Amino acid sequence: MSVTKSETAVLKNFINGEWVSAHSSQTLNVPNPATNEVLTKVPVSSKEDVDLAVAAAKEAFQTWKNVPVPKRARILYKFHHLLTENHEELARLIVQENGKAYKEAYGEVQRGIECVEFACGAPTLMMGESLSGIAEGIDSEMFRYPLGVVGGITPFNFPMMVPLWMFPLAIACGNTFVLKPSERTPILANRLAELFTQSGAPKGVLNIVHGAHDVVNGLIEHKDIAAISFVGSQPVAKYVYERAAKEGKRVQALSGAKNHHIVMPDADMDKAVQHIISSTFGSAGQRCMACSAVVIIGDNERFVQALKKKADELIIGNGMDEEVLLTPVIRKEHRDKVLGYIEKGIAEGAELIRDGRKEMDDHPKGNFLGPTIFDHVTPDMTIAKEEIFAPVLSLLRAENLDQGLEYIRKSRYGNGATIYTNNAKAVRKFREEADAGMLGINVGVPATMAFFPFSGWKDSFYGDLHVNGKDGVNFYTKKKMITSRFDA
Ligand code: NAD
Repeated sequence: MSVTKSETAVLKNFINGEWVSAHSSQTLNVPNPATNEVLTKVPVSSKEDVDLAVAAAKEAFQTWKNVPVPKRARILYKFHHLLTENHEELARLIVQENGKAYKEAYGEVQRGIECVEFACGAPTLMMGESLSGIAEGIDSEMFRYPLGVVGGITPFNFPMMVPLWMFPLAIACGNTFVLKPSERTPILANRLAELFTQSGAPKGVLNIVHGAHDVVNGLIEHKDIAAISFVGSQPVAKYVYERAAKEGKRVQALSGAKNHHIVMPDADMDKAVQHIISSTFGSAGQRCMACSAVVIIGDNERFVQALKKKADELIIGNGMDEEVLLTPVIRKEHRDKVLGYIEKGIAEGAELIRDGRKEMDDHPKGNFLGPTIFDHVTPDMTIAKEEIFAPVLSLLRAENLDQGLEYIRKSRYGNGATIYTNNAKAVRKFREEADAGMLGINVGVPATMAFFPFSGWKDSFYGDLHVNGKDGVNFYTKKKMITSRFDA
């Protein structure tokens, strides 16, 4: 499937196994960020559309919850097969609507497939526990059951991987699902629904309602929704977490980030530069695990010069061009916001050692910004504190590892952090003391695999059980305890 203007006027919602128009006639354009050519329009659905989708999911749940777990898993095996068969097409769709480089998109599809792979293990993952003889003649057993209808709300930056963090595992556990994809990257979600249906998923098990705030509010307020999985920016994550929890729902809300990378004096500088460049500027810095602040321990001008040189050499352009690393940001409005941060950095006294604004006009149609690096940033500056979500890097200076760790502790966010060093003592200290949930040792993007929890801390996550891994299974199931006496 490739999207062209003539092929698709307005995207459809997917409710009860049918492609249906939204009730609202309001739409938003979905442009390609590299060219601003409009790919399609997305409907801004209403609460009425949410009600229809939730009713379909509620109805489907009555049957789906009783489908034997291995049978549910077999549908996911088929889905896995279809995703693998369509790997390249899915990657191209991601490039079109999100703008990231094809190689990154291909990797994202792979990460998504791995989530399905994990969910295929449902028969093992859903196993309970038992103990014979908790007292004389009495045994105890724990069984897991699905929750009911789950709502998923996803961001623009991983149109494939983030929905696949959610619905395959939720559905494998016996729930039914209503997905609200990002209105900025809604196309891929519909393709996922097509492939999921081809895999044999019964109608109503997966539903998609496109739109914005009204759909989100419709989901978090709906009495028939048992749980909400959310991924997006910090203010919205907090809002969704608080509102949905108030409605008595189980919630996991993954939020924004500011990931620090510490460069120790003994680090392999060439490798550190290479990892930081790709972590910072890959996907135009629009990854929740992107490096956005580097803490240089000691005086290390060689590192700064090498980083700047590599940034100068980056090829900027359309993600479909093979050699390109730096791609556009999602929208012109987002780039305007980023330009405001650059002004603020200068005004607050940071030293702009590489100004990416000069490359903006090289590709006038797209939302491009060249690699931008500030040096001598201090932890109290706005650009050090806030998530910018763009190819903008802050370099902070620290006298020693303790001070570097203090910068990480002071950050409100705690998604990830990395150290570059070969010193075992520094590694251990970093592992024990770094105040973030996903750490890298000489790894630029320490994002976890599907069988481990994606475990952000502090304001990077609201809730208790994370997505993926056993946390994901616990989130999407409730436990029932049976205590049996056999001597009656
Ligand atoms: P966003 O918050 O703008 O949008 C996320 C979802 O929330 C979308 O579906 C959107 O329609 C909805 N939404 C937006 N504003 C809303 C409002 N006022 N009321 C109700 N719903 C609203 O996020 P984004 O820009 O699409 O995604 C980027 C953000 O997501 C970054 O902050 C990034 O760090 C974060 N993110 C976090 C993780 C993680 O694992 N922690 C992973 C991916 C992305």
